Amino acid sequence: MAEVLDNIPVEFDTESLIKACRIEPMSEDADAFHKLIDKAREIARPKAVYREAFIEDRSDNTVVVEGVKFTSAMLAKNLADVERVFAFVATCGHEMDQVDLPVDDFLAEYWWDQIKAAALGCASAYLDEHLRSRFRLDKTAQMHPGSGEVEVWPIQQQKELFSLLGDVRGLIGVELTESFLMVPNKSVSGVIFATGKDFRSCQVCQRNNCPNRMAEFDENLWREIAKLDEE
Ligand code: SF4
Repeated sequence: MAEVLDNIPVEFDTESLIKACRIEPMSEDADAFHKLIDKAREIARPKAVYREAFIEDRSDNTVVVEGVKFTSAMLAKNLADVERVFAFVATCGHEMDQVDLPVDDFLAEYWWDQIKAAALGCASAYLDEHLRSRFRLDKTAQMHPGSGEVEVWPIQQQKELFSLLGDVRGLIGVELTESFLMVPNKSVSGVIFATGKDFRSCQVCQRNNCPNRMAEFDENLWREIAKLDEE
């Protein structure tokens, strides 16, 4: 049974956001940005839905979670010693897509997107803390369909992930498009699992110069899962 978290506090680190958006403090742009932050504080309702689910079957490149089959050698490897996962979707909340921004103001649109990402950050951190305290989890890792290299866990398996959670649109207002992207765009889906090992999708992602890279590319791991995926 999926659980919804929809009473998530919204806390923005305005100073960091202004810096990240390269806005000059005390400028007109800074004033405009502060107004957007005020608007976001008024309307943002970040949310998350998750389901505790157990692994029923597995092979080198598949995992069956409560009747739903996922195909990914990296997922199977990460879950080799795991019996339980938490399937989840977290979002900045559809309310932030209903705001009226100044027409054709691309800068305001860009800033709003950054604020939406910060609201999603609130939802993700809250979900993480909730799972840690409710299920007494220690070290965890996550995987996300479509994150990094497309073949590692194909984005098409968003469909299976959503099917585990039920009516995600009805529960937290996140829709899956025909191309398996989520609306609102600042939403994240995946599985969280307890593990003693470190894992980041960046370890199996060959993208050069990614500003968000959090771990070095691991050529040996990449070759290992590529071989298993072929079998
Ligand atoms: S390197 Fe960049 S694109 Fe690749 S998984 Fe990491 S954050 Fe994502």
